[in-house]
Amino acid sequence: MDRGSLIADIVLAKDEAESGVDYSPRTGARCPWCGARARIYRTMPWDGPIRVRYHRCEASGCAIAALGVTIKSIQEDKT
Ligand SMILES: [Zn+2]
Repeated sequence: MDRGSLIADIVLAKDEAESGVDYSPRTGARCPWCGARARIYRTMPWDGPIRVRYHRCEASGCAIAALGVTIKSIQEDKT
C-alpha cells in the first residue's frame, strides 16, 4: 500500500469514527480501523430511540488508537 492511499484510508476511518458507528448490545462498537471492540468511556442518556456512546480503541498498532480519535457509536432502539 502506498502512503497516499494509506492516509486516505485513515482519513476514512477517522470520518467514520467521528460520524458514528453502529452499537450492538451484544458486540458493542467496533473500531473502524482495526475492528477491535472499542472501550466505552462515556454513555449519553437515551434521546428518543437513539443512544450515543463515546469509545476509544486501545489496540496496539491501530491508527485510530495512535491518533487518539474518539469513536462515536449510535444505538437505535428498533422495538
Ligand atoms: Zn482500533
